[in-house]
Amino acid sequence: MSYYQRENRELVSIDSCELVQSQFSVIHDFSAACALDFLAEVSEQLLPANEPGEKQFRLLTTVLEHLRSATPGAVWRAVTYFSLWTVRLAGLLPDMDVCLGCGTWLEDPENPTRAFFSRFSFGLHCLECRRSLHLSNAWELSPESRAITREILQSPIAALAERNWTQTTAADLRRFLTQQIETHIERRLITAPVLEAAA
Ligand SMILES: [Zn+2]
Repeated sequence: MSYYQRENRELVSIDSCELVQSQFSVIHDFSAACALDFLAEVSEQLLPANEPGEKQFRLLTTVLEHLRSATPGAVWRAVTYFSLWTVRLAGLLPDMDVCLGCGTWLEDPENPTRAFFSRFSFGLHCLECRRSLHLSNAWELSPESRAITREILQSPIAALAERNWTQTTAADLRRFLTQQIETHIERRLITAPVLEAAA
């Protein structure tokens, strides 16, 4: 796309627009169409204006390619992968293996600790801190979702461990990530509940 923007003007004049890759092939699948809306809303809300975001662009192209692969569970793999990396690239991802209340290492193999999150607190908390901080409406981040978090941060999307992905897979992780985004943008994402209900 090429466009011209005058200084101090928000509106731009678009000169030309060429379609490089169409997402048309996936929109017959309702949940995939909802996923596209979600990717667009999150990108629009989180990316700074007038700044090239090369890493975010590469993330988007990778995730869209995976979505077009139409492998079983691709929608949920794509959306979860995108959400986690977008939150990380935006600098909004807290330390995921430490309780932000007391510093306990949540992933200690000799003493694995349950992890909780709440809309009104940043990051994860252990059971003790959940009680002492009176975190109301806290959700648990399941051991499976914590394992998926580690995998996503270490592997390309196509190399994630074999797993039967459905809407319930890592739904708690997506809820956590959505809350982190919503706290930052100070409003709810319109597309998130629609997507989760689209399964
Ligand atoms: Zn704690």
